[in-house]
Amino acid sequence: MPPFKMAFPVKMYGRFDGTDAKGRALIADEEIARRLATARAEVDALKAMTITGISRTAVVLFIATYTVRMFFITAGYHRYFAHRSYKTSRVFQFILAFGGTMAVQKGPLWWAGNHRLHHRYSDTEADLHSPIKGFWWSHMGWILSEKSSPTPTEVISDFAKYPEIRFVNEKDWIGPVTLAAFCALVGGWSGLVLGFFVSTVALWHATFLVNSLAHVMGRRRFVTNDTSRNSAIIAALTMGEGWHNNHHHYPASARQGFYWWEYDVSYYVLRALAAVRVVHSVKVPNAKALENARLRDGAFDVGMFRSHLEQAATAVVASRDSAAHLMTDGRVAIADRAGAAREGLEAMMEGTLVRADEVAKLTRRPGVATAVE
Ligand SMILES: [Zn+2]
Ligand SMILES: [Zn+2]
Repeated sequence: MPPFKMAFPVKMYGRFDGTDAKGRALIADEEIARRLATARAEVDALKAMTITGISRTAVVLFIATYTVRMFFITAGYHRYFAHRSYKTSRVFQFILAFGGTMAVQKGPLWWAGNHRLHHRYSDTEADLHSPIKGFWWSHMGWILSEKSSPTPTEVISDFAKYPEIRFVNEKDWIGPVTLAAFCALVGGWSGLVLGFFVSTVALWHATFLVNSLAHVMGRRRFVTNDTSRNSAIIAALTMGEGWHNNHHHYPASARQGFYWWEYDVSYYVLRALAAVRVVHSVKVPNAKALENARLRDGAFDVGMFRSHLEQAATAVVASRDSAAHLMTDGRVAIADRAGAAREGLEAMMEGTLVRADEVAKLTRRPGVATAVE
């Protein structure tokens, strides 16, 4: 039996080995080499785009914009504007204010004013972002809420008196737009995405963790009137802000890591800036402050007690409200059911009477008079 032969249009497509019907090469060697070279160049270009060129710049931008802006938030907005833990010139004060706006966390007066209120009313009803009101509320719900949009000028009048700070606070979009333009210029699209947008979101969540997780997770060293804790992880993410129980114990200190092993990068930078006289009068806790109000095993922790009490009170109020609801709902439900039952009974009785009549008619024997007739 002859081998199976497929009718292959050799004239049109050439043979499998790349030759035409007469055995001539359809694609010249030079052509193959040219196409290969083009493909290789395209792969190289793709590699350059993803590994070297754009992406490397974008990653550098991400790290730089995250670190620099974190410094402006922790050392500027927080330790300078909210707590006045060191002094500086009016020019550097302006740089701190403008640099802070680039973090897209609103203006310095808004940020520091609200933060002063956080310290004043920590973990009470008046605290804007206490985790007692729920973890997600303390993390980001509060910042998105209408309630927290105005600047509490009355508590930050010491800085609100500077017209340039008021200007920066009001025009808090100039900083972010400038930074976004810079990132796009240096790193193109991926520079803008990583260096500005992704970095901003990362910065938000790291900052918010101090308000949320640093009041929930970690150890307490000092008895404070709140639920603040010390967390090494949050300290690593926020250049030293994770030593939050230390900070609530001694908010006036520019140093939040009280011991050498409690790394506090923002404080190290402040020390360097003090060395070159950009800042001065950098406050640190004295030995007495470090020993005061230590929470030793078995000590009564008034802050946690208060917060638990607050939570219990909230729970009691909530259960009382829901009990009241239940009672009202219950009363309505009982009345409804009674009404429905009565209607049902009436219908049933009517039906029974009709049927009884029918039965009576059927069983009536002729000639026997009934009482009804
Ligand atoms: Zn706090
Ligand atoms: Zn603070």
